[in-house]
Amino acid sequence: MPDTRRPTRFIFVTGGVVSSLGKGIASASIGRLLVARGLSVALQKFDPYINVDPGTMSPYQHGEVFVTEDGAETDLDLGHYERFTDVNTSRASNVTAGGVYHTVIRRERRGDYLGGTVQVVPHITDEIKQRIHLIAQTNDVDVVVVEVGGTVGDIESLPFLEAIRQFPVDVGRRNCMFIHLTLVPYIGHAGELKTKPTQHSVNELRRIGIAPDMVVCRSEGALSPEIRRKIALFASLGAESVVSAYDVDNIYKVPLVFRDEGVDELIVEQFGLSAAPPELQAWQSLARRADEAQETVRIALVGKYVKLEDAYLSVSEALRHAAFLHGCRVEIDWIDSETLLGEDGERERLARADGILIPGGFGGRGIEGKITAARIAREGEIPYLGICLGMQIAVAEYARHVAGMEGANSTEFDPETPFPVIDLLPEQKEVADLGGTMRLGADPVKLHTDTRVRDLYGEAVIYERHRHRYEVNNLLRRRLESAGLRVSGTSPDERLVEVVELQGHPFFVASQFHPEFKSRPERPAPLFREFVGAALLPAGRSEAEASPASTS
Ligand code: GLN
Repeated sequence: MPDTRRPTRFIFVTGGVVSSLGKGIASASIGRLLVARGLSVALQKFDPYINVDPGTMSPYQHGEVFVTEDGAETDLDLGHYERFTDVNTSRASNVTAGGVYHTVIRRERRGDYLGGTVQVVPHITDEIKQRIHLIAQTNDVDVVVVEVGGTVGDIESLPFLEAIRQFPVDVGRRNCMFIHLTLVPYIGHAGELKTKPTQHSVNELRRIGIAPDMVVCRSEGALSPEIRRKIALFASLGAESVVSAYDVDNIYKVPLVFRDEGVDELIVEQFGLSAAPPELQAWQSLARRADEAQETVRIALVGKYVKLEDAYLSVSEALRHAAFLHGCRVEIDWIDSETLLGEDGERERLARADGILIPGGFGGRGIEGKITAARIAREGEIPYLGICLGMQIAVAEYARHVAGMEGANSTEFDPETPFPVIDLLPEQKEVADLGGTMRLGADPVKLHTDTRVRDLYGEAVIYERHRHRYEVNNLLRRRLESAGLRVSGTSPDERLVEVVELQGHPFFVASQFHPEFKSRPERPAPLFREFVGAALLPAGRSEAEASPASTS
């Protein structure tokens, strides 16, 4: 029997001119369009930095750390990939220069190179190509989309660009497509869009041996036919291969713009793939709902990296997904937990919020401010969603102010606390020196009957992703429960507390896991869905009172 499987095709997305052009969203949008055409895709991100993974980098450096189902700490663009394509990524989806060098150097130390000189070309580039093959093989998909981080011309990106330049030798040029994303700036005083930076950047790409098959131009407004033609001329492309990626007010509209620009058509044609027209109705209606939304809920997000919104990217996206569903807008009020204690104005702002959210975090800075925020939510009957650290804060606050455990805290912040309600597990303490104690990735969570969280998930066992070290202390758990804190979700063996909630409060739920990582625009994470739903209700009214059934 002849092998009837189609070969995997590879799309490489590079960026030029400046960083932060939204290469991640462009790659994710291409992925969405291909999925909408019934093709299977896998996305991969190359990061040219020397860190092995972003797990230890400050959120101010790198934005959020996105956690995959299999427990890898990765670049936040993987979150875009998952949200846009609804396909889970994995450890193999994020390749860093540090990770590649680490592998090659380990091999060298083992003597695998038999005395040879180990070099960037071919050893580093071979390892990079190997990672691309790996993602294609393990996912067995029609198309792999590889986003090359950094900007063409950077020293750091060179080994990655060299690897993708060579890649067609392995799989055939017709199975590869190079898409280059650039900026076409508008120069106000000249009243013109300028194509020169794009020209230089395409030249730079050519100089290293890559001729783009498509140039995607970011610009404020749509490109005119003349500009398109001009770019097509110097890029040696047909004008239809110059794509105008003009600014939109909502990132989830980008696949729709790309569709109108014929991006998926060009890809399918170039690869000779037979694929149905894209099914994008659900996305169109998402965009419409977002445009038509009238009511706004104001969610106070209390954290310590509030000056960089990317530090909480999946959380803010999950809030937006919930808003799409409820047909409202979410306005996030970023509140710095450190200034919260000193300033009355800040506390006022918090008390007036429709909902209070405390996301994950590490380290003691701003902890007391967060405890105050959780107290304001609990006492003021303001809907509260606590995530990871936000759950630990809720537990410490409850312990201190309701369960009579003065000074209760997590041993992460106060090793001498008289009431270590959050602590390392005894077996973790023994291995703490080895650093391998972080709990990462998806784990099963048992939701207990007659709880809010069980109702809102509608399932007895769920899988959610984790990234933390500390746990609710089982020695103090009973005492917390007798004081009224409901443990509504645990690990299947009931040893680890996963969710707590308060009964008789409009919405007070906090989870040790991170629900935001699995939220999708078409399917908001249940905790976010209900939290935003509760925040929409006028203060003091329960869902039953507000529902049309009870008012009729
Ligand atoms: N710092 C806490 C812990 O390690 C919470 C982690 C988080 O919020 N991601 O347990």
